[in-house]
Amino acid sequence: MTERRYPAVVIDHGKVQHNVKTVCDWCQEEGIFVAGVIKGANGMVSVAEDYVAGGAKMIASSRLEQLKRCKEKNLGVPLMMIRVPMMSELSELVQIADYSLNSEIATLRALDKAAADQGKIHNVVLMADLGDLREGFFDSEELVATAKEVEDTLPHLHLAGVGTNLGCYGSVMATEDKMQDLAEIAEAVEKEIGRPLEIVSGGATSSLMGVFGKYMPKKINMLRIGAAILTGPLEDMCTCYGYSEMNALSDEAFTLEAQVIEVKKKASHPIGQLGVDAFGQKPEYVDRGIRTRALVAIGRADYGDIGDLVPTILGMEVIGASGDHTILDIEDVKEPIKVGDIITFKLKYSAILRVTGSENVKRFERSK
Ligand SMILES: *Cc1c(COP(=O)(O)O)cnc(C)c1O
Repeated sequence: MTERRYPAVVIDHGKVQHNVKTVCDWCQEEGIFVAGVIKGANGMVSVAEDYVAGGAKMIASSRLEQLKRCKEKNLGVPLMMIRVPMMSELSELVQIADYSLNSEIATLRALDKAAADQGKIHNVVLMADLGDLREGFFDSEELVATAKEVEDTLPHLHLAGVGTNLGCYGSVMATEDKMQDLAEIAEAVEKEIGRPLEIVSGGATSSLMGVFGKYMPKKINMLRIGAAILTGPLEDMCTCYGYSEMNALSDEAFTLEAQVIEVKKKASHPIGQLGVDAFGQKPEYVDRGIRTRALVAIGRADYGDIGDLVPTILGMEVIGASGDHTILDIEDVKEPIKVGDIITFKLKYSAILRVTGSENVKRFERSK
């Protein structure tokens, strides 16, 4: 048997697929299809395959490199670029992606040329900024006028629809009035161009609250979902929005395994004159006396922030980390922990993003 190597991120494809299918079923009941967003797992193609197997009708990412890998695998569903494209990537965008989200007429005009050069028609979705203040037209009249210009003057673009994004920069929630606003914009565009739109894209994981709340306007027929599927109910989002439906998802689709390299009783308050830590910060240390601690061989260089690691062993606490070491308080853990043991953590979104992208973290894929 080959020796397992650590640290390792374990991807449980059965659990990813369960999450995809659960989310797709919720959405389908409300007449909504899902674009599976793969950027949170660094665009792993095996995860994209789980999305398709679980019922996602499109694969989406903010990075062309990730969509390119999917295109090479021929997943059988359209690919969508969800970061408003750079001027410098338009010809690659046309080559790789079938759809893109857009918010600038200058880019759309250049995109039309890039598509013409390749003899293709590229599908675009115009983004409305409903107050979250990241991408999108802030002025809905400008969006409608742009839609008209695309329709009438850019023959190598097909205006496939409109969309919005919430809960990113501005933490704005996908409340009923926001979803209604988007539906009204879609209607205004349809009136202006004289035909129905195929896509009205109501947002990301944060818009699932409209699905749970059963208030999605009929017009909205697509959501772009990543986080819910990758993290399950671990994200702070579901506690904040209070939707228990999320508990049907697994929070163990991605877990992290790290090996214990030291176990000792130590003081809990540093000893000596205190300056700054490994990251130049001046943290507060609580003196809890002498405690048993385990050191594991993984650090912030691999996963980012200790708050994004969730121990699976009762009584274990992550108390600190440097770039390559993580310190666990195991004083209150019932079972014995010794050097060489493997410790498993659940992961929040940013940690999944980091560990799947780290060359130091091995990937272990558990097939369905
Ligand atoms: C990242 C992203 C998504 C997916 O967001 P999740 O919260 O991971 O579901 C959807 N749309 C856009 C434009 C994004 O950038």
